[in-house]
Amino acid sequence: MTKRDYYEILGVTRNAGDAELKKAYRQMALKFHPDKNPNNKEAEDKFKEAAEAYEVLSDPEKRKRYDQYGHDGLRNGGGGGFSGGGMNMEDIFSHFGDIFGGAFGGGGFGGGQQRGGRRVNRGTNLRVKVRLTLEEINTGVEKKIKVNKYISCTYCKGSGAEGGSAYSTCQTCRGTGQVTRVTNTFLGQMQTSSTCPTCSGEGQIIQHKCVHCSGNGVVKGEDVISIDIPAGVSDGIQLSVNGKGNAAARGGVPGDLIIQIEEAPHENLHREGNNLLYDLYISFPDATLGSSVDIPTLDGKARIKIEPGTQGGRMLRLKGKGLPSINSYGKGDLLVTINVWTPRNLNRQEKEILEKLQTADNFKPQPGARDKGFFDRMREYFQ
Ligand SMILES: [Zn+2]
Ligand SMILES: [Zn+2]
Repeated sequence: MTKRDYYEILGVTRNAGDAELKKAYRQMALKFHPDKNPNNKEAEDKFKEAAEAYEVLSDPEKRKRYDQYGHDGLRNGGGGGFSGGGMNMEDIFSHFGDIFGGAFGGGGFGGGQQRGGRRVNRGTNLRVKVRLTLEEINTGVEKKIKVNKYISCTYCKGSGAEGGSAYSTCQTCRGTGQVTRVTNTFLGQMQTSSTCPTCSGEGQIIQHKCVHCSGNGVVKGEDVISIDIPAGVSDGIQLSVNGKGNAAARGGVPGDLIIQIEEAPHENLHREGNNLLYDLYISFPDATLGSSVDIPTLDGKARIKIEPGTQGGRMLRLKGKGLPSINSYGKGDLLVTINVWTPRNLNRQEKEILEKLQTADNFKPQPGARDKGFFDRMREYFQ
């Protein structure tokens, strides 16, 4: 899918200042806000598009990269094709407070978890790094990882209340979790509501707190989580496992577990996208007379034939011996560059043999008879 220009989305010029951007975004957000356009997919897309554009253009660093390289400049780091890009509604609403201050806070334009009444606690996301070898990336792997995190209190089953029945409705908000007042905003007079200060928006208060978790419903603990990592991931990619983050206070929704992939360097092979590179050295006699040698691959060794008269710099492509792609079928290749090893520290006898060959015409380089020029090889490399 091709993305529209961010400036075009917000309808501003390329040298628009902060205030102008904010104003343009506010207009878009008001026009396409889901509360004004219920069940309107097109409006929702426009709303998200504007939020994404504003998110980039309001960040000087991101804006600079976007100005220089366009959408491509924002692609690196985190996610790749996997996380899908874009913003979700929760992200967008959670930014409203920062951008528009109180005006957008409550009422009809509620934010995030507080939309439509009583607050639902949400556990925080948990981040872990998982280091993988190229062999593991090649096949995909199941990893069991131990994490320290907030887990639900077993004594009160996460309710935070002793005995399980000691909740009562909050008198301040009568259980709604919100207190309402009328204010003047840029939209005119508006009824806004804010989180009830007595119950922190939960609508209920605990009469007797569980002593094991001090009424929080969660305690520090550890968990062993098993995760299936798909083949073809790469360094910096983030995978998210729903609901495996920190448990939420008093029976809310747990956060997510975010796994950041790290790639361990390989002893022999270098990764370039889905291709693998290997630097092979062969002896001068092998290059001249021909031979066969073993190449390390991610699934055992592969034997390749060295033709008599092979020049240094020649490249061989082992089709399908690279890494799988995370987004599609097919595999990369293993590209083997052949180098001819020049011996050092010769003994007397070896030296004498070579001195005889040094003047022989047949041993002089013949540029016209070489395998491939440098640029041909590079083109092959990157194709
Ligand atoms: Zn408890
Ligand atoms: Zn309350």
